[in-house]
Amino acid sequence: MPSDAEEEYLFKVVIIGESAVGKSNLLSRYARDEFNLHSKATIGVEFQTQTLDIDGKEVKAQIWDTAGQERFRAVTSAYYRGAFGALVVYDISRRSTFDSVSRWLHELTTHSDTTVARMLVGNKCDLANIREVSVEEGKSLAEAEGMFFIETSALDSTNVKTAFEIVIKEIYNNVS
Ligand code: GDP
Ligand code: MG
Repeated sequence: MPSDAEEEYLFKVVIIGESAVGKSNLLSRYARDEFNLHSKATIGVEFQTQTLDIDGKEVKAQIWDTAGQERFRAVTSAYYRGAFGALVVYDISRRSTFDSVSRWLHELTTHSDTTVARMLVGNKCDLANIREVSVEEGKSLAEAEGMFFIETSALDSTNVKTAFEIVIKEIYNNVS
């Protein structure tokens, strides 16, 4: 716990989920307000640091992106190590990515040694015309797993900031 004099909060947050659900674009939208239609998955782990003000305290979130490791079912334990929060992302227009959520949750639990603030994220809500997963299905899975739930669009920015900030605020509440 930080002392009153020198408060410093740095929380690691990981983004997980199947390939091409929009993990990298959610992060680039949040951290840099950028979106890429043809983003190429690169190999190696990357993170971005965002600073927020919560209750007048400076809180830093170090948000990690798998950078494509998930294509090889090889997200390493180093990726999860020390994470206090997680966004578990699926694509509302591809049911198979929703069906994989429980596998990702299991992987997260296996690699965590602490309470992790978890948000289920149904991304690409701009593609409602080709939706394969209903809002209700997302909600009820999140409820069953005891997680937060939100639908986002990295393309049109819907709820992206909110998704990250709910998780970061929950971590802050858990530790302070
Ligand atoms: P990742 O593999 O999970 O990191 O997914 P990417 O961020 O690389 O995105 C995969 C593809 O989905 C790219 O072509 C993106 O442009 C596209 N994409 C990402 N987010 C959205 C979104 O919110 N809406 C739409 N329509 N496309 C998206
Ligand atoms: Mg990616």
